Amino acid sequence: MLPTIFNDIIGPVMRGQSSSHTAATWRIARICLDILNEPLKKALVEFDKDGAWATNYMEQGTVMGINGGLLGLEITDFRMKNTKQLVEERDLSIIYKIGSYPTHHVNTVRISLSGINGNNILVYAASLGGGSFNIYQVNDFKVDIRGDYHELLVLIKSSKVVPERIKSIIPKDAVVNQISGKYSMLLNIKSSKEIPRETKQQITKLPNTQEVIVVNPILPILSGNDTEVPFTTIESLLKYAERENYSLGDVGLIYEKCLSGLSEAGLLNKMKEIIRIIENSINTGIEGTIYEDRILHHQSHLIKKAEKNNRILHNSILNRIISYVTAIMEVKSAMEVFVANPTAGSCGTVGGVIKAIAEELKSNEDELIKSYFAAGIVGVYFAVGPGFSAEEHGCQVECGAASGMAAAAIVQLFGGTAKQAIDASSMAIQNMIGLICDPVADRVEVPCLGKNVNAAVNAYTSASMICSGFDAVIPLDEVIQTVSRVSDQMPSCVKCTGKGGLAITNTAADLKRKLGN
Ligand code: SF4
Repeated sequence: MLPTIFNDIIGPVMRGQSSSHTAATWRIARICLDILNEPLKKALVEFDKDGAWATNYMEQGTVMGINGGLLGLEITDFRMKNTKQLVEERDLSIIYKIGSYPTHHVNTVRISLSGINGNNILVYAASLGGGSFNIYQVNDFKVDIRGDYHELLVLIKSSKVVPERIKSIIPKDAVVNQISGKYSMLLNIKSSKEIPRETKQQITKLPNTQEVIVVNPILPILSGNDTEVPFTTIESLLKYAERENYSLGDVGLIYEKCLSGLSEAGLLNKMKEIIRIIENSINTGIEGTIYEDRILHHQSHLIKKAEKNNRILHNSILNRIISYVTAIMEVKSAMEVFVANPTAGSCGTVGGVIKAIAEELKSNEDELIKSYFAAGIVGVYFAVGPGFSAEEHGCQVECGAASGMAAAAIVQLFGGTAKQAIDASSMAIQNMIGLICDPVADRVEVPCLGKNVNAAVNAYTSASMICSGFDAVIPLDEVIQTVSRVSDQMPSCVKCTGKGGLAITNTAADLKRKLGN
């Protein structure tokens, strides 16, 4: 399945420090709860000692995500702010440990759950960046669960007859994966539509069926409804846009329509809702937010104050960009609701700069929505390339990707062509290659705020340069490939491990001691 704009790029709508630590783990935990198939009694959550989470799972919101998921909360629920208390109140035992087990991804978690009626499950999952994840093992069965289908897990005593009978019962569009275990067989049935309750009952009654588990989808766009996208590479996208006289925003909307099977009106409404949440977070941030466990406090209002007191330039678009980007970041750090875009760490860039430019241009709602689809389609090429995991690639795939997305969105607002939008994106990302990830005291605040502001300003200057006729020289696909290549050359200490960059300064150590876990 190709990445979709709403599943993988603009979203999730969430609370918490980090999309890979909080949103992805919340999603994994919610699905684990489905797989347990009875109320939870106790959980053991283990991070590999050599993985990226071993050093920062407390501070970057992994505990919050897993607790919230295991408690069955929505990620936007205000109780996500205090899941530890809720775990105690419900008399649950959720233990976190650094363990050692084979992994194939730096962000891997092993979760053992026990239910109140004696069910036990063991799940291995990886967070892939920006809230994406895959559950790749349940007990001794190799699976691939990503939250994008209605699914059934059917445990049967090994038999060749039963799967065939099951295939005749399930909906026609459903896909069945047959996975052999040591003593039994697991059928993983995936459907883009809800599997009727009667189907589950029929399967339960079949001889040899041991258990039928319903796994609910957790992503906003389901797989299995897709039609062919009229382009693949960035080059073919540009040819398509030129031939059809489409802007990059038009192309982004067409892409999402092909993958989701949803109507244009439905998609425009979805984006309208995303924009409403972003604007709300900007207003909330500027009004002021409070949260104890944070390094930076309310600052987004200071720009206006400084303008008023003649301490900085008046009415500069840059002032508004700084203020709006900061407001979103402050909302994130205060555990209020915001949109990861493409990640939580880089959530301020796209929304902040789009609002500032759209206000200046007096853009209408349609233009605003199209600018987000332009940003989204650039994000798609990042997602199929390196992805958004700072633990693998550093901040070049968070603020770097966000800057490229924002540059394309600004060109869209300027009324530029798809080619100009893609070139602006290329230019913006070129300036962010090699950006390390070194959050101070493991909080996604410093130097994340400054990086977001710079990514937004860089997007604005790149869009302005391209729309004035400057040459980006290196095509966007080559720039994205370079991001992947450079990340291979970067040491792991500067990839969100807390072992390099500003994270190991004396001041960072003092802050970490002061803030604790
Ligand atoms: S430095 Fe960049 S990648 Fe690292 S946590 Fe901050 S925003 Fe995310």
